Amino acid sequence: MSFSNLGLQPALLESLSSLGYETMTPIQAQSLPYILAGQDVIGQGKTGSGKTAAFGLGLLNRLDPERFEVQALVLCPTRELADQVAREIRRLARATANVKVLTLCGGTPIGPQIGSLAHGAHIIVGTPGRIEDHLRKGTLNLNRLETLVLDEADRMFDMGFQSALEAIFGCVPGKRQNLLFSATFPEEIQKVAERLMHKPVRVQVAESHDDSSIRQHFIRLQDENQRMNALCALLLKLRPESSVVFCNTRRETQEVADELGREGFDALALHGDLEQKERDQTLVRFANKSASILVATDVAARGLDIESLDAVFNYHIARDSDVHTHRIGRTGRAGEQGSAYTLYTEKESHKAVRLEAELDLSIEPEPVPERVDERAYKAPMVTLQIDGGRKQKVRPGDVLGALTGEKGIAGKQVGRINIFDQWAYVAVARDAKKAALQKLRDGKLKGRSFRVREISNRGANPRQ
Ligand code: AMP
Repeated sequence: MSFSNLGLQPALLESLSSLGYETMTPIQAQSLPYILAGQDVIGQGKTGSGKTAAFGLGLLNRLDPERFEVQALVLCPTRELADQVAREIRRLARATANVKVLTLCGGTPIGPQIGSLAHGAHIIVGTPGRIEDHLRKGTLNLNRLETLVLDEADRMFDMGFQSALEAIFGCVPGKRQNLLFSATFPEEIQKVAERLMHKPVRVQVAESHDDSSIRQHFIRLQDENQRMNALCALLLKLRPESSVVFCNTRRETQEVADELGREGFDALALHGDLEQKERDQTLVRFANKSASILVATDVAARGLDIESLDAVFNYHIARDSDVHTHRIGRTGRAGEQGSAYTLYTEKESHKAVRLEAELDLSIEPEPVPERVDERAYKAPMVTLQIDGGRKQKVRPGDVLGALTGEKGIAGKQVGRINIFDQWAYVAVARDAKKAALQKLRDGKLKGRSFRVREISNRGANPRQ
């Protein structure tokens, strides 16, 4: 299980030891010997399995940093995942001199990306739509590609990236190594794999969740009218600090978030109609614990890497067992116990029966819990937006310093700090909000005053 006998370059072994990766995860142990031998590999494993390091080590090991051409391309379904993958590859490459990793994703202006490409890059990590745009414009050249990675392939297909993927496949050299990772293998992916890959070796690791790490509850509703009430009753009973409510449509996502907001919960909607800025803001607020409930469609939640969700709620039962497994797999990570609650009516019971059969479950319907007569609980933090960011050279340390100095708030009342190009978000404890706003408004950051305000739910929570 050690990395030392794989024939990895010494610089990679050095990075691994500085990262504290001492033994291989199961997916790494199974796939790395093939990946390093240059074979095509299909890996079934999801976020958390260590798959990024598996393909990252593979492409870095065969990379020639002196050849300033794109040698590896990693395609991901979302910008969040692409950023995460690029970060992991950079960490693995930290002991190798001059490796340039560039992310190319949609939702950000294309101009600066063209500029970065002109400077050259060895490894590109990006989303299919934007990569296709660059290929069409002629700003990206993949003629000398050695390794093509499809990460979370099933999600890319779910998100409708087929045609962009086809266009990309048409621009890569025939002789290359292909690595494909996916949590599920619907027929369309099998077909693509057969067509694109050369005698792929398939490695599969057991689901990282066994039954004991996720407790599943199925709540049987009398009728449709009970649904919202049941969700509120569950939330009040469980009071999860971070939970996701899955809905089947965008519209329902917004409606449920609005309704929870009216009930006094700190809930935010995440769906495909949000602009990039709203999406970023929503994710920041959820991750920094100033919103406790994220109401999301399956597609919008793809690629999210949210650590330690206490609970997942299926507002409606998922349309098939793969989707159900994806959803509930978001709780109970890293060996912690998580819970998943699925609400369903008589009309949906055929879906429950199918889940039972396909997932080998035994569903014992539970009634809607009694609604404890309590007010909605609030998230522990609030988010403040500072209208200065990377462009103004604002760093996390500056924000922390400005908040905690003389007459400031305590360091432990400051949560996550996220810096974007033109603005920054900082989470502060709810009861320290006033003092924090005052301190930031009176004081200076980088010798300047910046506008600061609290981010509250846009219309979703009229009580705020
Ligand atoms: P991934 O499934 O690629 O998202 O990786 C999950 C997490 O495991 C990441 O935070 C990695 O940094 C970490 N990780 C990957 N491989 C190892 C390893 N062999 N030992 C310890 N941590 C690892």
